Amino acid sequence: MKADPAVQRRLLELADVDAELNRINHRRRTLPELEEIGQAERDQQAKRDSLVSSQTSFDDLDQEVKRLEAEVEQVRAREERDRTLMESGGSAKQMEDLQHELETLSRRRGALEDDLLEVMERREATETEVGYAREAVSAADTTLEDAQRRRDEAQKDLDTAEAKRQAERASFVQEIPENLLTLYDRIRQQRGAGAGLFQAGRCGVCRIELDRAALTHVREAPADEVVRCEECGAIMVRTKESGL
Ligand SMILES: [Zn+2]
Repeated sequence: MKADPAVQRRLLELADVDAELNRINHRRRTLPELEEIGQAERDQQAKRDSLVSSQTSFDDLDQEVKRLEAEVEQVRAREERDRTLMESGGSAKQMEDLQHELETLSRRRGALEDDLLEVMERREATETEVGYAREAVSAADTTLEDAQRRRDEAQKDLDTAEAKRQAERASFVQEIPENLLTLYDRIRQQRGAGAGLFQAGRCGVCRIELDRAALTHVREAPADEVVRCEECGAIMVRTKESGL
């Protein structure tokens, strides 16, 4: 392929812009905020799980308190009834039975009230835990939102940089003939870079030093000949800095 040396030199500018676009893309994929967000999402999930677990314990204990309160109330009502019966009088045997039952009920109520007190204490402790767990979820939400905001800002900066480079690229490609541009783009898609400055006997893309025969070929090729690296296939652009 033939191309005017000045046109070939435009390829170097295009290659610089493309290298910058590659860096922008790489940066986009490797933003540290992405890793932070992943970590923050895992942390948020763990904190949410922990809150659900504390809340479930609290609900269970709350149910238990209500159950014990209802039982205490039942016993109390029974005691009330027995006392009313005793006040209305009866046989000595009936009085004795009622007295006996009242003693049993009193012991039963005492035991239930002890249980109730203990469960209420546990419920209170669990309520405190729920409060802490809620704060932890809120803190994890804030951490995640902060990382997402910083990622969005970084992506916006990259969008701006990319748009600027794309505009430069669009202007450079107008000055390059279609067949040369097609070749350049094909190599770039395969290798990541389409052209490089030939300098000090090395390809500007893969940096491999040419052997004597290849070097002679490059040296003797007409200025408008598009020469390519035998190793990586990139177009080797010859300029005054090539040292030929
Ligand atoms: Zn090469």
